[in-house]
Amino acid sequence: MAAIDLPSSGSFKLANARVHSSLTPGLASQFDGDGFALVDIDVADGRIKRIAPAAPERADATAIDLKGRIVLSCFVDCHTHIDKGHIWPRRPNPDGSFPGALDATDADRRARWTAEDVARRMDFSLRSAYAHGTKALRTHLDSAAPQDAISWPVFEDMRERWKGRIELQAVSLIGIDGVREADWFEQLAKRVAAARGVLGAVTYMVPDLDELLDRVFRAAIAHGLDLDFHADETDSVDAVSLRKIAEAALRHGFEGKILVGHCCSLARQPEHRVLDTLDKVARAGLAVVSLPMCNLYLQDRRHDGTTPRWRGVTLLHEMKARGIPVSVASDNTRDPFYAYGDLDMLEVYRMATRILHFDHPVADWPKTVAATPAEMMRLDGAGVLQAGGPADFIIFKGRSWTELLSRPETDRIVVRDGKPIKAELPDYAELDDLMVGA
Ligand SMILES: [Zn+2]
Repeated sequence: MAAIDLPSSGSFKLANARVHSSLTPGLASQFDGDGFALVDIDVADGRIKRIAPAAPERADATAIDLKGRIVLSCFVDCHTHIDKGHIWPRRPNPDGSFPGALDATDADRRARWTAEDVARRMDFSLRSAYAHGTKALRTHLDSAAPQDAISWPVFEDMRERWKGRIELQAVSLIGIDGVREADWFEQLAKRVAAARGVLGAVTYMVPDLDELLDRVFRAAIAHGLDLDFHADETDSVDAVSLRKIAEAALRHGFEGKILVGHCCSLARQPEHRVLDTLDKVARAGLAVVSLPMCNLYLQDRRHDGTTPRWRGVTLLHEMKARGIPVSVASDNTRDPFYAYGDLDMLEVYRMATRILHFDHPVADWPKTVAATPAEMMRLDGAGVLQAGGPADFIIFKGRSWTELLSRPETDRIVVRDGKPIKAELPDYAELDDLMVGA
């Protein structure tokens, strides 16, 4: 296949692009069994002017023929930790366990997370995400004192610097126990509101969970904040904080958006409890994000010579069937919670396809890395391809799902505002000086 050479003018025509039904709302076309249709796309002044079924009989000699290559909207990554990213060389997880991750990260944060350290690693992460085709990203920020005073200003600065390339959002991350410090928590909620952030917490089973959740919801309502939780990242059947969050949302009549990550334990619980929880989650309007790579890494890792038996992911099929909005996202990258990863949402989708069976049929699963997280993040017009919208998309080599998901597609072409970006993945060596003294 000849190389695709896009002009830098922001205006051109693409012929025979293969687009997916789930990411092209309103497109009147015949889609095949895999959800694909061949279309022609007109781009003018950085925006999509028209998408229409491919019409070879009216072929425009000036159009760039993609010969059936897949074109997807740019990705939206709704759950990451770019404040932790890339600390692995100086602070590895000694045994790959969840407690090992907590301890190692805690030690690293206390010793090393200056504003400069956090900023440089964040920037590295954003450059990777951008080069891979991500246009919006939500990160959690470790927000227990004194880190809150360091990381939130770094985030605000980074959001400004990345404006127009990556829409950056942040969530405060603290253990639910931290909410017991009522005055401090109120200050944190104010800080988050001042930064136009999202209020969050890690929930697990503590005796006063309902009261603590009430405090979180009251703060969110008082400050007009959306919510984002880490819930039940464990195999314990007794971990039901997802249900507790849904109950709290119903109790408070909460009208903002609530995203809940992980929910691993749900997959271990008896059917009747699962159904009860899912009913409440649907009624409360919660959305769920699964983090398949991190779950596969941390869950069911035992140190007794046994092989892991379950995948660690939550019940996305059952949730989607009930109309619960579901996404998948990167989560951690090269830190003690996950030794690998590069904020490449194609990798996340590829892994999700294998771990969660996003195939046969593919149905509308592609929304999980684009349109659905965009809606959760209140990003109007992101995660879809449509006339009038920005020309933000990725041209792949693959022409079918099996071609797309079998190779890394490192030569994908990322187009932003109608122009091919020139971004390259940053070199790991750039961070070497931060890793000294490991
Ligand atoms: Zn997370």
